[in-house]
Amino acid sequence: MDMVSFCSDLIRCRSVTPLDGGAIDCIENFLSSVGFDTKILTFTSKDGSNTIKNLFARFSNISDQLDKKVLGFLGHSDVVPAGDSWSVDPFAAVQRNGYLIGRGVSDMKGGIAAFCCAAATFVQRHFNGILEIFITGDEEVGSMEGVQSLIKWTKENDYLPSHCLIGEPSSDVFLGDRIFLGHRGSMNALVTAHGKQGHSACPANYKNSLTNLCKYVAKISAYPWKHEDKKFPCTNLEVTMLFTNNYAANVVPELSSANLNIRFGGDYSSQMLMEILEKEGNDGLSFNFNTSGEAYYCDNEVLKHVLTESIRETVGLNPYFSAAGGTSDGRFMLAHCDVIEFGLRDNTMHQKDEQVKIADLKNLERIYLAFLQRYFENIAQ
Ligand SMILES: [Zn+2]
Repeated sequence: MDMVSFCSDLIRCRSVTPLDGGAIDCIENFLSSVGFDTKILTFTSKDGSNTIKNLFARFSNISDQLDKKVLGFLGHSDVVPAGDSWSVDPFAAVQRNGYLIGRGVSDMKGGIAAFCCAAATFVQRHFNGILEIFITGDEEVGSMEGVQSLIKWTKENDYLPSHCLIGEPSSDVFLGDRIFLGHRGSMNALVTAHGKQGHSACPANYKNSLTNLCKYVAKISAYPWKHEDKKFPCTNLEVTMLFTNNYAANVVPELSSANLNIRFGGDYSSQMLMEILEKEGNDGLSFNFNTSGEAYYCDNEVLKHVLTESIRETVGLNPYFSAAGGTSDGRFMLAHCDVIEFGLRDNTMHQKDEQVKIADLKNLERIYLAFLQRYFENIAQ
């Protein structure tokens, strides 16, 4: 199967989370046609409100599996909503000037198409080992009925891989210039200021929630985060939303709130951050915290070496290692096996006119194929 047309087929599946749009079936058809045992796994949330379709695919041609290493590829087929102002139909997989344009082409249907096609080529060769592919359907919204449930199922069925490559976009300026070994943690804090409504001309009779909130936001925005763990970029706090229930210019608002998004490195846990945010606050403020994930880092020398050599021999670049960027499903997989993350450039993901160079897609497939070759030569025996 031609990789670019497979990727285009995937883009045409409108898999905006939690919808699947046919994406999982499309990947399942392809992998089963090249010899993978496939299983579509649908998980539903406890309250029944959310159902997500996922895929587990496995190619094994050895009987004694005791000492064999198992390599996994992990990806998500869901995408974020397209939004407005695209110059083309976001789900039409348009090609223009050497680029493939479409929602999810970078994050991460391009990565999925590349590793599935590389895997298909690889398993046709003389290959003595076990290769697994995990595709999930809700990475963009928390991964509960996606990778978290899928890993649980994999563990119960004794299919956990020894190592896992995550095909999320990781490259910066050129395909192959950056590998992610981890990511910062991510936490949201909704801070609510409680006051007393009143006429702005009568200070004795009101308590201004908005002024209190603004003072707090200014103070916490200037907090001197320590930065001792240099594997990660410095911890950063951004005010991402502000709300107040006011309706007139001369009324002091009773309630105001702000959402703070914090990306944090290895110097902090979400628990430590909660304590700092509360300690810096005052009696008029209340807090509601939501942690997407703790900071994580996986420093497997062999995986780093095998991937670096594969990139170098394919595109001639010497990648650097980083733990910047947004968080990924790697944080869940790392509890069970070593992970490494490498894929397309991340410069247009979640944007309008998301696009990748078609040449990069083809080179990514070649890099993954080289990685498979080296992995099963060097690690898996
Ligand atoms: Zn992604």
